[in-house]
Amino acid sequence: MHVVIVGGGFGGLYAARALRKAPVEVTLVDRRNHHLFQPLLYQVATAALSPGDIASPIRWILRHQRNVEVLLADVRRVEPERRTLVLADGELTYDFLIVAAGATHAYFGNDEWRRVAHGLKTLEDALEIRRRVLLAYERAEREPDAARRQALLTFVVIGGGPTGVELAGALAEISRQSLARDFRHFDPGSARIILVEAGPVLLAAFPETLRDAARKRDRTHPHPEAEPGEPEREEVIAFPSLAVRGVGKHAVAERRPGFEVEVEHHPEGGGRHEDQERRPASPVAAQVPSAPENA
Ligand SMILES: Cc1cc2nc3c(=O)[nH]c(=O)nc-3n(C[C@H](O)[C@H](O)[C@H](O)COP(=O)(O)OP(=O)(O)OC[C@H]3O[C@@H](n4cnc5c(N)ncnc54)[C@H](O)[C@@H]3O)c2cc1C
Repeated sequence: MHVVIVGGGFGGLYAARALRKAPVEVTLVDRRNHHLFQPLLYQVATAALSPGDIASPIRWILRHQRNVEVLLADVRRVEPERRTLVLADGELTYDFLIVAAGATHAYFGNDEWRRVAHGLKTLEDALEIRRRVLLAYERAEREPDAARRQALLTFVVIGGGPTGVELAGALAEISRQSLARDFRHFDPGSARIILVEAGPVLLAAFPETLRDAARKRDRTHPHPEAEPGEPEREEVIAFPSLAVRGVGKHAVAERRPGFEVEVEHHPEGGGRHEDQERRPASPVAAQVPSAPENA
């Protein structure tokens, strides 16, 4: 009896483990050779962890289980009538099939945001976010204009679910702690982290006590290394009930009268896009390095 499992994430690994004493031959297929611990992706995105810290080879994880073999292959289609998986480079037959191929992120119908606002599902996503964040600090170091520097140091996270809250918290942490002493021409602690959520509360799916704990963290807190008398800074500025209208080259988030988030999008070399459109005065302007054209 041949059981094929598609996917070496938590689902696929648990399925394989559950079959360890069954009289079956198991083939686990994944398009990547590593299992990824997604809950810590945000730490890679904010340079607190390295990619190798959260990825392990699937065949290493399952090395002691004699009835499993691991194959690196991209599954393109299932043909149930032939009990066959069509791979990018061949076929694989099965008696039983377990599909644990995971999920992808959603832009809630705004797929055009993908080009400027990365998701956070893979190591590549995390490394791209990390590249953009660190590049923003590097550019701020060379930016003489205070307003433009503040724009470079304003990070907007859209989505107040667990990933958005974690990411916003980690961005605040690197600005207030990890990078606190690394720059000479600006104070990394002056970075503004803005968390925008369309619903009325952050962490809507969580129990009230946890939502409260998150709410307390977005109040104004003293900087951990603040000098006496230094003004207090917010760790994360949270805007619940704010639906994002658009994220483009110079993205905009707005649906609350009088409030607008403008994200200026700059090409790699620096200067403004020629077609940059100026929007009404906004309290928040964030500048993000652009993705490569073919990203
Ligand atoms: C940033 C982030 C933070 C999270 N934090 C938490 C948390 O704190 N607590 C918590 O409980 N959960 C958390 N989650 C959710 C949790 O990580 C996921 O629910 C879980 O990883 C899903 O496991 P899975 O096996 O279903 O899918 P995945 O882990 O996505 O695995 C799917 C696997 O299938 C492979 N695959 C997909 N398609 C194909 C194909 N066509 N051919 C071959 N292989 C394929 C992929 O390469 C992948 O290895 C978080 C998720 C993210 C993204």
